[in-house]
Amino acid sequence: MISSEFKYICPKSIEEALERFGEFQGEAVYLSGGTDLVPRMKLGLKKPRAVIDLKDVASMSTVAEEGDYIRIGSLAQLFQLKQTDLVSNRFPALAASLEATSCETLQVRGTIGGNLLQNTRCLFYNQSEFWRRSKGFCLKMGGEKCNAVPGAKKCFANYTSDNAPALCTLQAEVAFAGPNGSRRFKLESLYTGRSDDPFDLEPGEILTDIFVPNKTVAGGYEKLRVRGAVDYPLLGVAFSRGSDSGRLAVGAVGPRPYTVELNEPAQDAMGEAVATVINQVKTVENTVLESAYRKRMIPVLAERLIKKVMEGAE
Ligand SMILES: Cc1cc2nc3c(=O)[nH]c(=O)nc-3n(C[C@H](O)[C@H](O)[C@H](O)COP(=O)(O)OP(=O)(O)OC[C@H]3O[C@@H](n4cnc5c(N)ncnc54)[C@H](O)[C@@H]3O)c2cc1C
Repeated sequence: MISSEFKYICPKSIEEALERFGEFQGEAVYLSGGTDLVPRMKLGLKKPRAVIDLKDVASMSTVAEEGDYIRIGSLAQLFQLKQTDLVSNRFPALAASLEATSCETLQVRGTIGGNLLQNTRCLFYNQSEFWRRSKGFCLKMGGEKCNAVPGAKKCFANYTSDNAPALCTLQAEVAFAGPNGSRRFKLESLYTGRSDDPFDLEPGEILTDIFVPNKTVAGGYEKLRVRGAVDYPLLGVAFSRGSDSGRLAVGAVGPRPYTVELNEPAQDAMGEAVATVINQVKTVENTVLESAYRKRMIPVLAERLIKKVMEGAE
């Protein structure tokens, strides 16, 4: 499949990238590793007039300690990041989710920023234009029906970032530069909760950095997938345990990660935390695994993970 024609632009700074974005009246897209964007363009899911490649913006690739935070440039490659001591020594939940992301070939190309901003996915959406046309365009394509849930008035595509749940448990913040200035906020606030339009962003905003509080936190990540590598998560559970509390986050079962705070002792609080997540989640038949099974696996993975982390922490 060949994508539609576009103009390729490779700016040297964030300012230049923003300026070039402004020239295309919202019809430009940013490119980092391209492992999410390019397949979508080839399927005709995205037809931008311009692609703005951020790879030459050097300031966005660094990982460094900065006061009370570790600053992770959004262009940091997943593979590079998982081998960075600052990450592997301090944030085991993130190290584990990076390791579980796809396969090493994609980790070398994919970036952490692109990972967080990857689009939501559905078995009925991530298909060729020919396939989608024969089925009738769904809500996420600007149509009037959901092909996964007949009669539904909202979209149920899943946000399948492996690393977002881990970063939520680490209370990460995200920093954006945009046409109207810069802002920084909790990662959880990035999400609209709508599968067809998952991010609460202004047009043209660039994710520049991810800030993770600079303290060593025990943790881990468990992923449900059909094959041992390459596959997107069909469910992802992250847990990080601070000195006085823990955070559990569940991903790939809706439009955003679902995060809950657990008070000590974490194992006792797990039942309540999982129930809180399950009450918010509605899995539907839009992946290769049965929806009821994916939901049933939430407590299974959470229990396994918390036990492992708690035992390791003692
Ligand atoms: C076969 C296959 C398997 C995969 N498996 C997994 C998996 O197991 N787990 C997983 O989490 N992901 C998986 N992915 C998705 C993808 O490879 C990763 O999420 C990767 O980290 C995306 O990063 P990228 O740099 O390639 O993003 P890109 O494709 O460059 O960008 C993704 C999106 O973010 C936007 N964007 C990128 N950078 C910025 C920025 N700095 N500011 C604003 N917008 C930006 C782009 O416009 C695009 O919409 C898979 C992909 C494929 C093709």
